[in-house]
Amino acid sequence: MNIDLHCHSNVSDGALAPAEVARRAACNGVEVWALTDHDQLAGLTEAREAALAAGMRFVDGVEVSVTWRGSTIHVVGLRIDPENGTLVGGLAKVRGGRLERARQMARDLGAAGIDGALEGALRHAANPAMVSRTHFARFLAEIGAVADTKDAFRNYLVPGKPGYVAHQWAALADAVGWIRAAGGEAVLAHPGRYGLSAGAMDALLREFREAGGEAIEVVTGSHSPDQYRHFAAVAAQYDFAASRGSDFHGPQEGAEFGTLPPLDPALRPMWRDWAL
Ligand code: AMP
Ligand code: MN
Ligand code: MN
Ligand code: MN
Repeated sequence: MNIDLHCHSNVSDGALAPAEVARRAACNGVEVWALTDHDQLAGLTEAREAALAAGMRFVDGVEVSVTWRGSTIHVVGLRIDPENGTLVGGLAKVRGGRLERARQMARDLGAAGIDGALEGALRHAANPAMVSRTHFARFLAEIGAVADTKDAFRNYLVPGKPGYVAHQWAALADAVGWIRAAGGEAVLAHPGRYGLSAGAMDALLREFREAGGEAIEVVTGSHSPDQYRHFAAVAAQYDFAASRGSDFHGPQEGAEFGTLPPLDPALRPMWRDWAL
């Protein structure tokens, strides 16, 4: 079964509208699909309708931004109730402050010789309140300051580089708690991306489990094949279920639907007991 449980629409930092993302997933062979926009549920109704029309099964999702020991961590929530007040209220708090942060990022970039970054980033953001580093990356690529958006994250927008502004997101236990309050299951997104030491990763995995986290992403567009193997072993060692998702953001931006390998059959897929 081709299942993809992580991707973005222009409701957050994806390039395509939810219905376009649905059609693209279906065209690329996805059979069970979740939309997981950052800190926002506003795309789910459109996505669900388009998914069902395209013959896919649909899973309501979200990707919550978390600050843990000073690092930004992402937690995906799946099979959530989008009407749940605890989750809706929690997400509203998390996504506040993005525009103010973007103003500061633009001032930083201006000091580094890049003018017009706020207006430039906002041109790429369907919703100004959800303006993200991804929108700044698209602007930097568009003006030729960098070769592509990957380069924008190498040279700008990350700690120690111009355009990075630290931000306080949700607490780990809160994010997992909101997801569970909404009847959902919490997944630690792309653990290989955080650059944590082995000791810090161990602490993160234990805290995540204690908070009620059930799964970790093993096969994701954000992992290398070596990391598929490494985090398969981690899932087995810590007895987490395993998840799989492209983290698709847009055409020619990172991973595409339908291109990832399946999960190692020795793992427990998080969808094992779902009625699909
Ligand atoms: P923000 O929530 O505004 O901090 O933006 C985070 C988003 O930037 C993530 O969801 C990714 O889509 C993107 N991102 C972060 N780091 C990288 C990277 N190294 N390469 C490409 N995209 C990245
Ligand atoms: Mn993103
Ligand atoms: Mn993420
Ligand atoms: Mn993502």
